[in-house]
Amino acid sequence: MEFSPGLITAAYLIAALLFIFSLSGLSKQESAETGNLYGMVGMAIALIATLADPRVSNVLMIFIAMIIGAVIGLRLANKVEMTEMPELVAILHSFVGLAAVLVGFNSYFEMHQSFGSSLGHLGMDTEAMKIAMNIHLSEVFIGVFIGAVTFTGSIVAFAKLRGLINSSALMLPHRHKMNLAAGITSFVLMIVFVQNGGAHFPLFLMTAIALLFGWHLVASIGGADMPVVVSMLNSYSGWAAAAAGFMLNNDLLIITGALVGSSGAILSYIMCKAMNRSFISVIAGGFGTQVVIDVDKDYGEHVEVHAEAVADLLRNARSVIITPGYGMAVAQAQYPVYEMTQALKDKGIDVKFAIHPVAGRLPGHMNVLLAEARVPYDIVFGMDEINEDFSQTDVVLVIGANDTVNPSAAEDPTSPIAGMPVLEVWHAKEVIVFKRSMNTGYAGVQNPLFFKENTQMLFGDAKDSVEQIFKAL
Ligand code: NDP
Repeated sequence: MEFSPGLITAAYLIAALLFIFSLSGLSKQESAETGNLYGMVGMAIALIATLADPRVSNVLMIFIAMIIGAVIGLRLANKVEMTEMPELVAILHSFVGLAAVLVGFNSYFEMHQSFGSSLGHLGMDTEAMKIAMNIHLSEVFIGVFIGAVTFTGSIVAFAKLRGLINSSALMLPHRHKMNLAAGITSFVLMIVFVQNGGAHFPLFLMTAIALLFGWHLVASIGGADMPVVVSMLNSYSGWAAAAAGFMLNNDLLIITGALVGSSGAILSYIMCKAMNRSFISVIAGGFGTQVVIDVDKDYGEHVEVHAEAVADLLRNARSVIITPGYGMAVAQAQYPVYEMTQALKDKGIDVKFAIHPVAGRLPGHMNVLLAEARVPYDIVFGMDEINEDFSQTDVVLVIGANDTVNPSAAEDPTSPIAGMPVLEVWHAKEVIVFKRSMNTGYAGVQNPLFFKENTQMLFGDAKDSVEQIFKAL
């Protein structure tokens, strides 16, 4: 079955519209499922239209590749834990980057063989041919550059999120000068590449520089800035796909790439604002950050508590706020948390959830977990909506959160997370922290909350602790 060019354009247009509806649906929890559905239908239309394009000669090969990809994808999707999602996303971004590099090189070698003759057939004069060739060479160069940066950057992000390498920022001397030099050299190489009609050397040299640049850019961002890196790489992978779309002359890939690229950029910006970080300084590799980690500081003694005592405290409370974090995801404690919430509400206690924008390990992580456990949306609040309520709250349950409730972000200008807005749980009458030990959170920073007078530590796996409280209630 082959589609006419008009039909393919129409199919691409419908798919592009569905992708836009999908993004709009995904921006709210209530409409996220419909958003996903739009995306799937759009992708199915895009695939059928691509396979039915008369320019696609080897449909069988594509089918075989799709089947292999689908088997691996289904296996991974079934196996992956929610907490491993950011790693999976990071490694998938690296594939998009690699694909853009491969498409770029393929297009470059093909062009060497056939560019002149095919344009010659179209009857173009030499000047027009030169301009068209220069444009294509620039597309190839930029596509390979973005792809290579995305490829190695995403691999480093994957390794950091998986804990294969240290997640703290790599602070090489003159790192900003090195980044700047890599950017300028690549730009100069692009001019040399285009002026010499696509010579091999500048392209190969730039590829090597871009691979190192991507690696260094992400390696020098660390700790609490990692969420921005993940969404930034999401954005880069979109631009890499758009660049591949230009090289392959595929409008839908250009549109889809631009949608992913711009939504990733907007998300990075929103996350930077939420964390009070400058967007430019994060993407330039932690530019201007001065970090002092004070390991020897004496924070005082912490106080331990048991589940029964927490149940007593809750029974006598009028208002409770639950602030979940990464530990709730690891423990898969969202289901017992929901049961406990119901039990408290049945006793007439006002229960709310407070969600920090970077809680967990991916944007919206906590919202997804709570929705999975059927916690009603109307008791789940964002940081800005709820931060003022803590001072009038009897008990706050910090379930597996650490960095996102760390007072040193607000009180200690030398802290690595200084300036990041946090959930100000310490203003409540009583704070109970659920965790397994006195270990630090993702950013590796000690948390003075644990030593405050109104804080008590409930040690153990978050799921077990919540179940014990539920039983005692
Ligand atoms: P943190 O990562 O700061 O802390 C999680 C806490 O959970 C740890 O202190 C750990 O303590 C505890 N924990 C782990 N497992 C369990 C368990 N089974 N039961 C009970 N407690 C457990 O969490 P937050 O959500 O507060 O902060 C998120 C951090 O991750 C931020 O620094 C953010 O910048 C970063 N990040 C966020 C991303 C995002 O997009 N949201 C992406 C990448 C990074 P213990 O070991 O003692 O149990």
